[in-house]
Amino acid sequence: MRVPAFLSEALEQFEPVIGLEVHAQLKTRSKLFSTAANQYDPGQPNQFISAYCLGLPGVLPVVNAKAVELAVRAGLALNCQIRTTSIWSRKQYFYPDLPKGYQISQYDEPVCEHGHLDIEATKGPKKVRILRIHMEEDAGKSIHVDGSPYSLVDYNRAGVPLIEIVSEPDLRSAADTVEYLKQLRAILRAIDACDGNMEEGSFRCDANVSIRPIGETKLGTRCEIKNVNSFRFVEQAIEYEILRQAQLIAKGDVVVQETRLFDSARKETRSMRSKEEAHDYRYFPDPDLPPLVLDEAWVDDIRAHLPELPEATKARWRALGVPEEHVLTFVEDQGLARFFDAAIRGHAKHAVGIAQLIKGELLRERKSDVQAVDVDALGIRPEDLAELVELRESDKISSTQQKKLFTAMLQKGAPLATLLEEEGQQVDDPSLLKPIVDRVVEANPEVVAKLKSGNLSVMGFFVGQVMKATQGKAKPALVRRLIEEAIASSP
Ligand code: ADP
Ligand code: MG
Repeated sequence: MRVPAFLSEALEQFEPVIGLEVHAQLKTRSKLFSTAANQYDPGQPNQFISAYCLGLPGVLPVVNAKAVELAVRAGLALNCQIRTTSIWSRKQYFYPDLPKGYQISQYDEPVCEHGHLDIEATKGPKKVRILRIHMEEDAGKSIHVDGSPYSLVDYNRAGVPLIEIVSEPDLRSAADTVEYLKQLRAILRAIDACDGNMEEGSFRCDANVSIRPIGETKLGTRCEIKNVNSFRFVEQAIEYEILRQAQLIAKGDVVVQETRLFDSARKETRSMRSKEEAHDYRYFPDPDLPPLVLDEAWVDDIRAHLPELPEATKARWRALGVPEEHVLTFVEDQGLARFFDAAIRGHAKHAVGIAQLIKGELLRERKSDVQAVDVDALGIRPEDLAELVELRESDKISSTQQKKLFTAMLQKGAPLATLLEEEGQQVDDPSLLKPIVDRVVEANPEVVAKLKSGNLSVMGFFVGQVMKATQGKAKPALVRRLIEEAIASSP
């Protein structure tokens, strides 16, 4: 995006203010108020539905306890206060993907409130306050087919449990917003509450953006950018929106409060509708559901069993010397993090080597940052990976062999022990290697002469010959030593 000179001057006088509403689908087996499966499969529309999801007359909601547990877990991980009594409310609006005509959500008494998330912002550590986390059911999905006079609706998503995490307007740049989202996603993954897949929509956000003159304490008028489905797009959408608002104000116009859509092809936001107000939804407590009352002991038990959170995990890995780049990659991917932890169990001193092997060999094939690696499907046992690094670091195998064995483990899915047997151990017995070395030296007197006259580069030729004769199994350092000895004693 090119910024005209008059604008970049204007921009310097404004401070961007961003607040986020993040929707995260909870990893339950069934939906929030019915036993229909909570399953994502766009190839099988309307397969995971019940009478409830379709809003048929007479259906009644039954709260999924697992969903409540995951919401509470998220609240605790985000330093929230948990309400022991919260209220389910109806939010009414008309849309084909909402057959009941209302969504069950939480309004003025949400299950979690007053939390915060500490992030590493561009200008240093920053506390982003979390206003509230409420539970609600997802809507279905409208499918608009290009050129077709009608649209389709898939109700598989209708009734999937969501938490909406609402931040205070504490963020000050697009980059910090992305950092917040990444940390938030890593936490939700670590506590196994959400799989965080932005492309599939299980983790999505609306960004509220406004600007104000630097030094001003009153908030400016905000625009809300809807459902942007990748970190890159979030960044682009916010950057664009800041510029657009600065341009308006620089021209003497005003920002109109509205809902805008991000067009990822044109990298711009455009007006979608004027912003609705809470009273438009006619919220009222759902008469089919009593207040959600949580037992304090139950909440304490969830608190006591919270898994390690990403910040603690990162600190633990850093203490083992794992390079920052690897720390950040692993912590964002739950499967990878578990795999790495399993591999370093009892092998802490090889943590760096293991990290490098995973990053260098395992992730080479990975297509994008967003895509999680299904390490379970790889068929590599973490202890085998550790063993492979140990073999290399104690010089029992060469780095070429390490790579070869790694590839074989990936392709055959065989245990390392079996492969090592097939492969034959590295030959590091001097009595086996000496005759071969002598033969190679005797057969090449002219190369010996070159070496003796100081041309050390021909050393590689000898090592190569011995490796060839042993099908690569000789230990290179030993071969070198034996060659030096043989040459020193040759006439
Ligand atoms: P609504 O549903 O009307 O969007 P919410 O209270 O659910 O209202 O969400 C408001 C979100 O917008 C919060 O994340 C809040 O931090 C953010 N926000 C509110 N005012 C501003 C503003 N002036 N500039 C930027 N963000 C704002
Ligand atoms: Mg909103």
